[in-house]
Amino acid sequence: MAKYIFITGGVISSLGKGIATASIAKILESCGFKVSLMKLDPYLNVDPGTMNPYQHGEVYVTSDGAETDLDLGHYERFTHAKLTRLNNVTTGQIYSTVLARERKGDYLGKTIQVIPHITNEIKDRIKKVAKESRAEIVLMEVGGTVGDIESLPFLEAARQFGLEEGRGNIIYIHLTLVPYIKVAGEIKTKPTQHSVGTLREIGIQPDILLCRTEKPLSEDVKAKISLFCNVEQNAVIEALDVPSIYEIPLVFKNQGLDKIILKHFGLRPKHTDLKDWQAKVVDKVLYPKHKTTVAVVGKYIELQDAYKSIYEALRHGGIANDCGVEIKKIDSESIELDGPEKTLEGASGILVPGGFGYRGIEGKIKAIAYARENKIPFFGICLGMQCAAIEFARNVAGFTKANSTEFFKSSTEPVISLLEEQRKIKEMGATMRLGGYPCQIQKATMAYQAYRKTLIYERHRHRYEFNNRYRKAFENNGLVFSGIYPKKDLVEILELSGHPWFVGVQFHPEFQSRPDKAHPLFREFIKASMLLAARRGA
Ligand code: GLN
Repeated sequence: MAKYIFITGGVISSLGKGIATASIAKILESCGFKVSLMKLDPYLNVDPGTMNPYQHGEVYVTSDGAETDLDLGHYERFTHAKLTRLNNVTTGQIYSTVLARERKGDYLGKTIQVIPHITNEIKDRIKKVAKESRAEIVLMEVGGTVGDIESLPFLEAARQFGLEEGRGNIIYIHLTLVPYIKVAGEIKTKPTQHSVGTLREIGIQPDILLCRTEKPLSEDVKAKISLFCNVEQNAVIEALDVPSIYEIPLVFKNQGLDKIILKHFGLRPKHTDLKDWQAKVVDKVLYPKHKTTVAVVGKYIELQDAYKSIYEALRHGGIANDCGVEIKKIDSESIELDGPEKTLEGASGILVPGGFGYRGIEGKIKAIAYARENKIPFFGICLGMQCAAIEFARNVAGFTKANSTEFFKSSTEPVISLLEEQRKIKEMGATMRLGGYPCQIQKATMAYQAYRKTLIYERHRHRYEFNNRYRKAFENNGLVFSGIYPKKDLVEILELSGHPWFVGVQFHPEFQSRPDKAHPLFREFIKASMLLAARRGA
């Protein structure tokens, strides 16, 4: 029988609940337990796939093609859990299922209510993950902040879970803020007391508190929180700001969080080892030997969360090369205004990430031309690869009007366009080319040099494709199509011969990169960038 941990958040959002959840899972995994993780999102959208990045940040894609919350990215980066569409549940999904069942008449004339029908559906989905993943411990992160109206059904389901599964099989962890008030020179526990109070009104007594704080918590403060919140003092865990998110599992472990959890569950650790994580991940992030600067040219640059997996994958590439990666976030529209020389100065690598719509496209194309002409390592991802194709068509292959039909429907030189099957689609939700697809790699290419394999699987999220009509003309001008989806003969990877490192990929390699196992393309991109940085420094 699985054990369950619910993680809720209090006081304010953006305290790093996703990373905290991933870190707890990591330390339990390091004790030898198989874990799975879920994100329970209280919003009404069925999935975040149709949401604007300004609303939601990055959309993380699982290998089975689900468009999910970015916290699943943290879960996969920190643990070995294999996540699928089952691991992200939204209110929208819960209601769709219950209402479809009601229309079929499955409820046999009963009144359908939040309790028990909605809460039962939530609990069933949690149990399904436990069963299918065969995890020994399942962690559920409840989105939003305690006190929100919309998260109430999830919290009620969490409460019922404790009753039904037995309190010894359930742990409630509450992540809260303990602010430091500068003018008073004091740490304040009141917001935490209120937040725990609100949880208790719902019927949930937290077992463990994770206290986000910028100042260390004294034993006195911990004792106060313990007394007022009815949580044992050793279970008041300090979550101090740290330079790297990858340190957080160590921060928790050093305070004995794994022991507290396992004791509650009556489990004995099978082994316990985070030494590798410390040596091969954390120390490499904190004390790198080399350094480089990489520009990420996108249109949601001011938003921290929009390119989360890209930024992490770049750091992983750094870890693999013992190299600190400084990321310069460049708004592609600023390149349109100020030109690439000025905006991209000092960057020893240029990455253009995925995206949708025309805004900022010409700036990205200018950045790519600059990388190509000045032999600066370039990595184009999804839309970034499509822009590289447009740039090459316009400036090298002689198709001066080249475009994507996403930006210019009646383009006469549509180097990027829709396949027939995509043209027929009317609905927006979950209809892109999504999830894992095989890709055949051609030998003696930059792609092969990175993967050292001829068959790979990568995750996709796009509608448009490279238009095969232009393949010959591109090849004649020095472009190499080094990765192909064989079944449909679609271009998955293109690269430029005679350039130190210039690779565009139609898929999203960032989703499969791990801190202790950098994605091969990110590893090679950073390596190339590091070489350029060293040459420039010399
Ligand atoms: N907008 C492009 C498409 O739909 C690229 C998508 C992306 O970068 N994820 O094909």
